[in-house]
Amino acid sequence: MAKDESYLIKPLLDRNYPCVSYGKGAALYDMDGKRYLDACSGAVTASIGHGVDEVVQAMYEQARKVSFVYRSQFTNEPAERLAMKLAEQLPGQLNHSFFVNSGSEATETAIKISIQYWQERGRPEKTLILSRWMSYHGITQGALSLSGHYERRQRFEGMLDRLPFLSPPYPYRQVREMSGVDYAEELDHLIEQIGPHRIAAFIAEPIVGAAGTALVPGEWYYEALKQVLDQHDILFICDEVMTGMGRTGKDLAIEHWDATPDIVTLGKGLSAGYAPLAATVVADHVLEPIQAGSNLIMSGHTFSANPLSCAAGLAVLHYVKKHDLVKRAATIGEKLIEDLQEIQTASAIVGDVRGKGLLIGLEFVKNKATKAPFPKDAQVAAVIVNEAQRQGLLLYPSAAGLKGEGAGCLIAPPFTLTKEERCELLGKLARTLERVEKQLLG
Ligand code: PLP
Repeated sequence: MAKDESYLIKPLLDRNYPCVSYGKGAALYDMDGKRYLDACSGAVTASIGHGVDEVVQAMYEQARKVSFVYRSQFTNEPAERLAMKLAEQLPGQLNHSFFVNSGSEATETAIKISIQYWQERGRPEKTLILSRWMSYHGITQGALSLSGHYERRQRFEGMLDRLPFLSPPYPYRQVREMSGVDYAEELDHLIEQIGPHRIAAFIAEPIVGAAGTALVPGEWYYEALKQVLDQHDILFICDEVMTGMGRTGKDLAIEHWDATPDIVTLGKGLSAGYAPLAATVVADHVLEPIQAGSNLIMSGHTFSANPLSCAAGLAVLHYVKKHDLVKRAATIGEKLIEDLQEIQTASAIVGDVRGKGLLIGLEFVKNKATKAPFPKDAQVAAVIVNEAQRQGLLLYPSAAGLKGEGAGCLIAPPFTLTKEERCELLGKLARTLERVEKQLLG
């Protein structure tokens, strides 16, 4: 669709986008029949691949019964069953789900529930939420206020709340080795500076996605932070919108550590993109005082707990379990990281390969020895992602660098990726990097 014939606002107004025709498995096809290997599941979303018949059938059957009910008038079967399945599957006492439509809304809900929790416990002054640099929690005002993502904040800084952010765990660019204890001390200091009596919760992505290109903290990191949070009566919200539902080789990425969150947010992989669906999942001890007090969650949307979306979520959950796809994400992720490390060795601009399961990041640098990033105006992530798309490979551009000065991309294919598709991915990526290196370094 030529840009001057379109009435649809797209992310870049001056660009012609290919129009998708259909998707099957890990591939998408445009109207001209060109094939694209989806190496990033769109926005790290299509975790079981495209066009899975069981999911489509479940949605069709639900749509024939009812597609929409208003949550203040009716509950519905798919939403009830999905909430029950999540309670069975998720760790600890994470037993209560509030369904929304996007990860941003899940963050907003988590903020509101944290504040209401402390109100009900007689501590209404606890209203602030702490977060880290190099983080992304969503584009709505509350969620963006918590996001330490330079580029996405920049234009709106004036209207955003701004507390000091905690440093992110970022081994590749750390000036000295930092342990969980170092970060815990920093968190403790920050809490004392602001006043623990004012802080309701701390939010973090267990493995940072878009704002940090798959940053994996070291051993004991979350255990150490959780200890500090508990000491100060501060809730731990785990943003698992990108990492959740198997992406990193466990249902929740936080399960790689021994630290159970009080609230978890899910999105993306929850419905694997078959319908808009996200969730804020709350532990028993968080819901209890609200239930015993005002008995009301003061949040929600017209499309909350939508039966069609929840039917899609249920079918996806069932498909992942039936095909043991979480384990598969762990094993093929390990292999893919090894293959990508070979590509790193051969490449002049891949400075780091990192990640867990099928959430893998490549950080691009101008000089591998000094780790100097490309200048911002080189737009290196966009150049690489665009060249890859020309080659028929979809990658997700991401931010890197402590001040957002770096660039990277996420490789996060569907868990169903076959060996042939893995080879296709690596071949197309190597070709893309070769071309871009010539263009950027001469
Ligand atoms: N939280 C995380 C960790 C994300 O990666 C994202 C989106 O990329 C969001 C929240 C916001 O989700 P949505 O784009 O569905 O609003």
